Amino acid sequence: MRRVRFAPSPTGPLHIGGVRTALYNYLFAKQENGKFLIRIEDTDQTRTVSYAENYIFETLEWLGLIPDEGYNQEERKQYKQSNRKDIYKQFVDKLLESGAAYIAFDTQEELEHIRELSHKSGRQWQYDSITRQYMRNSLTLPSDEVEKLLASNTPHVVRLKLDRNEEVRFDDLIRGTVVFNTSNLDDKILFKSDGMPTYHMANVVDDHLMNITHVIRGEEWLPSTPIHVLLYLKLGLKDRMPKFAHLPLLLRPDGNGKLSKRDGEKYGFPVFPLQFISENNVLVKGYKETGFLPQAFINMLALLGWNPGTEQEIFSLEELIQQFSIDRISKSGAKFSYDKALWINHNHIKNSSTEYLFDYIVKNFQIENLEKELLFRLIEVDKIRVNLITEILEDYRSCIDYENNIDKEFFNLQIQKINKPIVENLIENLQKINDESKSHIDEFFKNFLNTNNIKIGSIGLPLRALLLGKKTGPSISEIIYVLGKNLTIKRLEKIYEI
Ligand code: GLU
Repeated sequence: MRRVRFAPSPTGPLHIGGVRTALYNYLFAKQENGKFLIRIEDTDQTRTVSYAENYIFETLEWLGLIPDEGYNQEERKQYKQSNRKDIYKQFVDKLLESGAAYIAFDTQEELEHIRELSHKSGRQWQYDSITRQYMRNSLTLPSDEVEKLLASNTPHVVRLKLDRNEEVRFDDLIRGTVVFNTSNLDDKILFKSDGMPTYHMANVVDDHLMNITHVIRGEEWLPSTPIHVLLYLKLGLKDRMPKFAHLPLLLRPDGNGKLSKRDGEKYGFPVFPLQFISENNVLVKGYKETGFLPQAFINMLALLGWNPGTEQEIFSLEELIQQFSIDRISKSGAKFSYDKALWINHNHIKNSSTEYLFDYIVKNFQIENLEKELLFRLIEVDKIRVNLITEILEDYRSCIDYENNIDKEFFNLQIQKINKPIVENLIENLQKINDESKSHIDEFFKNFLNTNNIKIGSIGLPLRALLLGKKTGPSISEIIYVLGKNLTIKRLEKIYEI
């Protein structure tokens, strides 16, 4: 059975690249009734930020990508790496015993000093099979001194002992055979002086203990994979090694470099799923607050690096589960397009039932003065034209809180063009209406224009100014339908004050 995991580090708000990793893991698991796990990798406590963990869980909840393990309150604790310290210690001890790892006593200052010296002579220094011979570690110091240092609690780390010039190969499900040479790698720290394992150690031990069958993660982790492969080998877990798949990078819209956390500001579109308060105390909007439906956000992310091999572009989560395959993930970076994201969202909004959209909006957005029927009618007419849920909310505010949402410049200009007798005539006719259904209002307005021989172009904008106070929004007959007969008449009667 497929068992996959999403293993984020809570070092800041989850970026869309991270959400895509979660999604691909989810799709891959669900396709074969496998298990999707979540594990918080917080071994680097200096980089952990307090809100980040909840943010991750809230994002998955919004998207409905609910993990099978590591999710409920109890398992959340059990699967969090900072609560599993003792477990990793046993594996490190095993590596020390077999000679696959060693203890190093070099202080931070000593390491910095030697790095600086090498840097001055134009060389990059790393702790490896050559340099370790000149350092203070259990390979170079006499064993009684090592004992003494340990007995007196001298701070130390445990490092993986790499052989020189050894080839490490593994098959990546997306990239094919990948080969690294150990001569280019350093003796990675596995256990830190603060008693915490490093990412490499904890990640491999947990993937093993949690019976992970496939590791699907971002390309930035590819250079770590030879270390992980070596750890499996040295722990005698060769047969337990998961399969690896490294996802392509998300690129900026112009294809120029990786889409970073800062690009949102630069390009003016969200790069985070949910809103958060930034370091300089600014509220940064996410996809949710910008007005994306979760299924549209999922659809958009699914196509960033994967394609179905057909013309289909709009997918439900269910369709993605059925059609997703690692074979169709590309090796090259996926260019992000916000226009495409908007188009996908537009389609999902259009295809959703008015009932669903109504419930989603009421549940997820704070609406002042909720007039249920009016909002429902507005959604009914707006859903076929908007790109964002928030556009419906803007129109709602114009319907409900007209005075405070008037576009003054537009209003003042249009109001001068108003043809009072026609508006009076419209009011009189509206008063006679009994049936306020959409089809009837459409019919009524069409007849009104025809009977009076009026072109919509000649009264459209002034009527829009009177009814909604702004240039954009539904058509005039739709606005009449949404506002209802009485409110429409009230707005039109403003001509008597002008
Ligand atoms: N903790 C790593 C991260 O923050 C996980 C990498 C992996 O999936 O192995 O993305």
